[in-house]
Amino acid sequence: MFRIFLVEDEVNLNQILTTYLLKEGWEVRSFTDGQSALQAIADRPHLWILDIMLPDIDGYQLLRRIKEQSPGVPVIFISARDADIDRIMGLEMGSDDYLAKPFLPRELVIRTHRILERVYSRPNESQNSVINLEPYVLDEEKRQIYKNNEVIELTSKEYDLALFFAQNKGRALSREQIINRVWGEDYIGTDRSVDDLVRRLRKKLPDLRIETIYGYGYRVTAK
Ligand code: CA
Repeated sequence: MFRIFLVEDEVNLNQILTTYLLKEGWEVRSFTDGQSALQAIADRPHLWILDIMLPDIDGYQLLRRIKEQSPGVPVIFISARDADIDRIMGLEMGSDDYLAKPFLPRELVIRTHRILERVYSRPNESQNSVINLEPYVLDEEKRQIYKNNEVIELTSKEYDLALFFAQNKGRALSREQIINRVWGEDYIGTDRSVDDLVRRLRKKLPDLRIETIYGYGYRVTAK
């Protein structure tokens, strides 16, 4: 069963959202302030739903701590503020989805389903769940990447991109294909989002040869 941590200081909204999420059969722990959420990071839910504007601490700060302590756990941001979408989505901070208030609770449920499925589903073809991406090895079951048997900490988007490259070694991938795969088709992504993500991946996986294809996208060279 999936465990979801919801942080929302507006008590009414918190209750409504909790009710909707519970109806899907998920376990929900709800927080109405940032401090108690901070203390729960180590309990590692499957997903966080985070309000940005909190009374005690900044939601960005909370996100940063979550990503430091459990980089693979996805986060959906909810906020009335919509000016900062680029920052929120990401690209520096690693949020996985974003919903602007006001939104229909149903919309949050749909997004939640989508992320949980993307992050935790185990496709049947992965009987052999280990993919070689020399000198790295991806374990699809664990959603982890190793080099010399040591885990390299990736955010869930960085992992998704590495997996996409691993499944398409030697193939040119357009920025649009990458957006569709990593962010989902309804995300109005910018090329910059992709470039930022690639830049971060290059930094974390320096031995991976990611070629830039000018005006198009990227390709990982097969060894
Ligand atoms: Ca709030």
